[in-house]
Formats: sequence, C-alpha cells, structure tokens
Amino acid sequence: MCTICGCGWTAENANHSSHRHGGDRAHHDHHWHGDDGSIHFGRPDDVHRSGQAQERILRLERDILSKNDVCAQANRARLLAAGQFALNFVSSPGSGKTSLLVRAVADLQSRFGVAVIEGDQQTSNDADRIRATGAPAVQVNTGKGCHLDAHMVGYALDRLPLQSGGLLFIENVGNLVCPAAFDLGEAHKVVVLSVTEGEDKPLKYPDMFARADLMLLNKADLLPHLDFDVEACIAYARRVNPEIAIYTVSARTGAGLSSFYDWIEARAGNVIRDVSYASG
Ligand code: MG
Repeated sequence: MCTICGCGWTAENANHSSHRHGGDRAHHDHHWHGDDGSIHFGRPDDVHRSGQAQERILRLERDILSKNDVCAQANRARLLAAGQFALNFVSSPGSGKTSLLVRAVADLQSRFGVAVIEGDQQTSNDADRIRATGAPAVQVNTGKGCHLDAHMVGYALDRLPLQSGGLLFIENVGNLVCPAAFDLGEAHKVVVLSVTEGEDKPLKYPDMFARADLMLLNKADLLPHLDFDVEACIAYARRVNPEIAIYTVSARTGAGLSSFYDWIEARAGNVIRDVSYASG
C-alpha cells in the first residue's frame, strides 16, 4: 500500500507508471475531482483503484483494527479492574498537550494517583517532563508510526506502577488523523486544539472531533494577540459532534482548567469508587 496516500500501489505493481510522489509539485494520478474543483486522493471512493486491490486494502484495515480492538478491550478490562480512569489525549503537534498534562498532573496528584503514557515517534522528552512532577511516566516511541495502538499501551501498562484507583493520562502522537481510528482502551478521547491553529480544524478533521467526548481549546492566554474566532470554532466542533463538551483553557495561566478537572472528577469518581467498594 502506498504510505503517502493509502492507495493500492505495491512493490509488485511498481511498473504502474502513473504513481509517483515527490519534487516541488508532488504528483499522483490516483485522484478524483469534486464539484468545487477540489482534488481528492485515496480512500474508498477512489474510482481508479481496482476492485481487487481495494478489497485487499479494506480487508487489511479491518484485520489491523479488529486485532487492535481485542487488545483495547483487554486494556479496558485491566484498567477497570485496577480502578484506573484513562483519558486518551489527541491533537495535532504543538497544541500544548504535554504542557497541559504537566499542569494537570501537578494540580490533580493530591486528589488522585496520576500516571502517564507518552507517545512520540522519537525522544523521551515528554516523559521526562512528566516525571519531573513526581508522577510515573512511560515513554513509547512509535518510530515511523503515526499513532499509539492498544498493543503499545498494554506493553506500557506492564511497566507502569499504577496505584489502585487513579487517573491514567495517555498522550497520543501529535496527529489529528490516525489516532481517531485506534481504540486504546480509554474511557474517553480528549481532543486538544490550540488557538494558534485554524478554527476550522473540526471541519477539516471531523473523525477526531466526532470520536472525542471533550475538546480543550488551549492557549487561551494568546487570544488577545490573535484573530482566532472562538465562537466559530465551537460551532464547527458542535456541527461535527453535537454532544462534545468544550472548555477554553490555558495550560500556561491555568485559566479554565477547574472546569476540566470537574469534568474528570464527575466521571472518574465512579470508576475509582467501584474499586474501593470491591476492595472494601
Ligand atoms: Mg507532547
């Protein structure tokens, strides 16, 4: 499969001369045109892909996702048994996820045991920042991978000293596309969007916003310096996901974070209480 556009190109059919990427004007002939003149690459309504190739890709995708779902369910059962309330933080790179988690861990660790799984392609920088708060953290490097999967999280859980009852924050790889498809066994996905990005991100990457239960609009302290339209952004997010909870926050100043913590407490309380009942 072509790793650039997801089409059915393979090494075996490399003589398919119409398929090439690169140069100043990357070109790819597997595309179709929308009514508005836009050009679309790849994915199921790609009319250029042969039925056999498309079927093979869909089978492969289903296989990968079904294996992931098995691991995710095992993670979920394990987390519930340990009274862990797990949140999967997703965003594009640079939205301030790690700064947000450093602040949240510092603010919440007097109320909850907090542990963190950090996902990045390379480096342990983010796990180091979390450990500096005193909370345990495991770094997962995905190499070429653009998302965490449930197997990686299960492996990290083996190495994380979890208290009985507590919060588990999972910081996914910065990417608003692939992490939407992979259940890690979390209770909720939390999408972080910063006001230094475009307010129309929810419309451009709808899968992620549709699958998240909470959106944190971060870096609100920068709003006086930007033209970011908060109301429009919230309307776009609700157009994609009418049920999504939304808080405008600043990891730098702490503004708005109490609402986020209340949201966590309202949901984590049941998970953690269940453990104390079970153990008591
Ligand atoms: Mg980070």
